[in-house]
Amino acid sequence: MTSTNRRPKRNNKRERNPRLDNLNSQIKESKFHKYIAHDIEGYRRHVANGGVQIYSEKELQDLQAAGLSDRLPPRATKYYMELAAKSHAITNLIKARPEEMDDLSGEADPSNQLKYSPVPGLLHKYELILLYVVRTCSSWCRYCYRSDFLTSKTDKDIGSISQIVNYVKDYNAKVKEGMTIEDVDRAFIEGDVKKFPIREALLSGGDPMVLSNRNLFGYLDGLAGAGIRTIRIGTKELSFYPMRFDDNFFDMIDLFHELHPNVNLAFMTHFSHADEILQRDKNKEYVRTKGYHYTRIPQVEEAVGRLRSRNYITLENQAPIIDSVNDNSQDLRRLHVELKRLGINNHYYFQCREIEGHKTFAVPVEKAWRIHTESQHGLSGIEKSRFVMSTEFGKLEVVSVMDGFDVTALAPDLPEEALKLANAIFKDGIIIFKAHRTGESSTSQGQIVIAKRNPEALWISGYEDRILYDGRKDGDARFSPMGTFLKSVFAPLTESDTMEKILQNV
Ligand code: SF4
Repeated sequence: MTSTNRRPKRNNKRERNPRLDNLNSQIKESKFHKYIAHDIEGYRRHVANGGVQIYSEKELQDLQAAGLSDRLPPRATKYYMELAAKSHAITNLIKARPEEMDDLSGEADPSNQLKYSPVPGLLHKYELILLYVVRTCSSWCRYCYRSDFLTSKTDKDIGSISQIVNYVKDYNAKVKEGMTIEDVDRAFIEGDVKKFPIREALLSGGDPMVLSNRNLFGYLDGLAGAGIRTIRIGTKELSFYPMRFDDNFFDMIDLFHELHPNVNLAFMTHFSHADEILQRDKNKEYVRTKGYHYTRIPQVEEAVGRLRSRNYITLENQAPIIDSVNDNSQDLRRLHVELKRLGINNHYYFQCREIEGHKTFAVPVEKAWRIHTESQHGLSGIEKSRFVMSTEFGKLEVVSVMDGFDVTALAPDLPEEALKLANAIFKDGIIIFKAHRTGESSTSQGQIVIAKRNPEALWISGYEDRILYDGRKDGDARFSPMGTFLKSVFAPLTESDTMEKILQNV
């Protein structure tokens, strides 16, 4: 199903709202001087004006020759480029590579998101809703999983808050007819409803923190008024331009809290590497301070400290594991430790999505799992995170990878047919995924997917032809891949063979 043909058009007219106009008059805006170099000419101007150089002229010419800007123009703040000058990881996060254009295979609309968009600018796949509120970020990560939206290559639009509020109200009214928003919330907690009410919303884009304070307030206030209990703000601005979190911003969210004291804000930060938190000296060494501590970048420390000082705000970090950015366990472990020390919880680490051009950035799934697993050694329970893939089906946690082994060497006396079967399953090893987060109509929550290993796979698509048990399906269908697999091992078996009969015959 594609919903694009059936979705109502976005309402672009700004409706008069005297209450909001009055509140807006209390909100102040700041003038930021965050010079942003956009595209190749922007970099040239940045360097001509004395800015740090992260590309040679030859590299810029190579990018132009490769037509790189057609995929995603390079873009970064002066602040972030200055961090990049002392860090390979940060350089690699924003520095375009000509080879990005070598293989543009991948999904134009990653994970088929438009399928879950009942209203323009809104995704409703899980129990929460996601809103596209802005089409840019202060800098652009080369691996951006929203690049289709940033560059307007798909039919995704910016959400109109009035249309989204109406959607939330209508949806929640249908969860249990005749109930107020408060009653629906209580009924859900007590397990008294079949459908999940929409209690949470994620502001995304792009980066909501590049919006003006008034614009951001309009989304927060509208969602709170619709009965949303927790509003997430997905942002990398603490890395790209932490000075955005200034007095006027905090006055705005304090006003929001005064008006909606029961609504929590969750900042979903996107720190990819400890170099976005810690200071490096001119020799590119971390600056040590008292004892084992390192000196933090003061603007990051201040912004996070001010967020944490508000009891209605929580902070969770999530980031993908990316080639040449954070694809080693020591860097990931350091990031976990520094985030937790800063007061930010480690939430998800992601497999790089199968976006167009992903092959330049993606680390194979099994390698990324190993890097993440090694990074968890020695971390305490509250410092740890999960490694997941955000697929069309839902969030699949990569639970474990088992090395292959030769059953013949282990148990040479087994009957030949048993050895044939056991080796067919175990010789190359096994990977296990778990359905960590699914849509409300799915029966798969907590189910596992077992597949034979594929060390080259960059996404779940690399395993679809080798799955043995598929907990993403319903009921007996979960076993059907095993039947197909067994038939491939014992070719003479016929369609009428049941799994029980096949196993009895082995
Ligand atoms: S912060 Fe997120 S949306 Fe912005 S460029 Fe990076 S990955 Fe894309």
